[in-house]
Amino acid sequence: MKKKLTFTLSMFSIFAFLTSANSFAHEIYYVKSGSTISTIPLRWTPKNTSTGRLKVMINQQSLSGSWATYYEDARTAWHSSAVPVEVTTASASQVPNTYMVTTTQQYWDTMYPDGFFTETLGVTELYDTNGSSITSYATANASTKQLKGANIYLNPSPNSGTAYTYRFTMSHELGHVLALGHSHLSDYSPANPNTDPSIMSYTYFTNVGTSYLPQNHEVNDVKNMYGY
Ligand SMILES: [Zn+2]
Repeated sequence: MKKKLTFTLSMFSIFAFLTSANSFAHEIYYVKSGSTISTIPLRWTPKNTSTGRLKVMINQQSLSGSWATYYEDARTAWHSSAVPVEVTTASASQVPNTYMVTTTQQYWDTMYPDGFFTETLGVTELYDTNGSSITSYATANASTKQLKGANIYLNPSPNSGTAYTYRFTMSHELGHVLALGHSHLSDYSPANPNTDPSIMSYTYFTNVGTSYLPQNHEVNDVKNMYGY
């Protein structure tokens, strides 16, 4: 049986899929009450002070296997895109704000066991400016709302190990680092994967996906969210 591939962002996936409505900018955390959606805007704060671009500086030394092979492609995808972000690999003298890790099999199997039809490929954990981990609507609400770091955990043995799977997953998780949520969620006027492709959409990945590059959808979301 071919497993359906999914991504999760910690507890994010538990939030409801209900009816459509609303709202540009796919904030990661929200709740819905009746037809009212309450979002928690979280914002990545590290910036390049001279260019004003958001700054993601990665320690990739704990990547292994195909994740290490395709890391540079995912990094370059964002760094070279029209999204106002620079994504670099930290040198020995630089302090990273984002860690990418291929976990051990035991850790992965304990933390993110496969469902019958689902497999988690990557998980992004965000940290606020107090160093508090954000893993739920409640912890997001209690946070400073300002993000200063992230850990990206990657499945050591994906069932579907194509180059596209690795590149897309890493690129997708980097979108979460910037506080982008999922663009396939019906509450958020979901991106139509055919006419509005988005690497933050499971639907695009599963049904349409050919690219792991940030799309116009991501460019517009980041510019809208951060006021560029
Ligand atoms: Zn995701």
